[in-house]
Amino acid sequence: MSSDYKLLDDVKQHLCTCSTGLKLTPDMEAFLEMPMRELYVSLPIHMDDGSIKVFKGFRVQYNEALGPTKGGIRFHPEETMETIRALAALMTWKCALHKLPLGGAKGGIVCSPKELSHREIERLSRAYIRGIYQIIGPDRDIPAPDMYTNPQIMAWMMDEYSKLAGKNVFGAITGKPTSLGGSAGRFDATAKGGLYAIREAAKEHGMDLKDSKVAVQGFGNVGYHAAYLAKKLFGCRVVAVSDSKGAIYSESGFDPEDVSGHKHSTGSVLDYPGAENITNKELLELEVDILIPAALENVITEENAERVRPKILAEMANGPTTREAEEILRSNGVHIIPDILCNGGGVIVSYFEMVQNESGIQWEEEEIEKRLEKKMKEAYHSVHDFAAKNNTGMRQAAYTLAVGRVVEAMQLRGWI
Ligand code: GLU
Repeated sequence: MSSDYKLLDDVKQHLCTCSTGLKLTPDMEAFLEMPMRELYVSLPIHMDDGSIKVFKGFRVQYNEALGPTKGGIRFHPEETMETIRALAALMTWKCALHKLPLGGAKGGIVCSPKELSHREIERLSRAYIRGIYQIIGPDRDIPAPDMYTNPQIMAWMMDEYSKLAGKNVFGAITGKPTSLGGSAGRFDATAKGGLYAIREAAKEHGMDLKDSKVAVQGFGNVGYHAAYLAKKLFGCRVVAVSDSKGAIYSESGFDPEDVSGHKHSTGSVLDYPGAENITNKELLELEVDILIPAALENVITEENAERVRPKILAEMANGPTTREAEEILRSNGVHIIPDILCNGGGVIVSYFEMVQNESGIQWEEEEIEKRLEKKMKEAYHSVHDFAAKNNTGMRQAAYTLAVGRVVEAMQLRGWI
């Protein structure tokens, strides 16, 4: 999110690299480089101290050729329209890559959630839905959680949408609590999906995941579950985790659940008994088998890429690796599982949530898991096979497959 870096430029460049292979005409490229719709909203909120503060929000609907647009809402103090636009493009390619009948969108509010009270966050969430009400809905655009937003916030948002519509519209928002139309298995879906992809990559390298060393950057919903499940499902040794305040390291590994308890009581993962405090920067450069960035974009750059050398880099965050860094990592033999492939589990289970809301049927967690695993495996192998056949990197393969599907839909609709 730093101002000198443009995630959007990288996303556009990735699009360009697959344009020759897909025989995109300049008009098609011009259309795909631009979002279809963007909305700025200004949100006056009554604060607990009686003052009124005005917050800024965005929603970008990038491309709806494949279906209603879909994507999360981020709460972050340094949010920009440009980052949201890039993330909405990534959602478009992500949904297409995983063969979901959905387009891509993203939203954000410029705010510091850690400095807001529960009630202030509720007012802000409801105001945001009132602001974007006209352009969202189950057949138009369906928001979901993302950075610093959670099931409670989704419940308020669904409730606000339903009040405005004059009826219950569970399908307007996904990532809701399970008692309010949410799906079983949505809370850890991004992490679980990413781990299924890691398992396929490990097989390819003949790597035994048991006792393999894992470092996870970020200890939010995705990062915590990635660490917890890596140990629980595969017996990995989680040697480092971090949050926004810093990172911890222990060669013998630790129990992520216990670290989470420590974070709850102290406010950070730092000073966890028996572990060494290190920086977020140092975490990325540790000698590990698997590195999982699960926080912000733009953390592996030209500056540190030479020293980032895991066997597998599983991008559970959106846009953690810059284009320049990716070239360095690839020449050093790092196996990259690109974001649109690796973190697709969240939106896949969001789609299952929509299907359940629409049909009134509720699936058991085992059913969700089975379907998620199947989808992640299929997507992983289609990307891997395409990359092997065309001698490209995994990211270019993923983009080519995804963009190709969006282009086909636009052609069939007669848009281009
Ligand atoms: N925010 C998640 C993502 O970036 C999930 C989006 C969704 O469920 O719609 O993929």
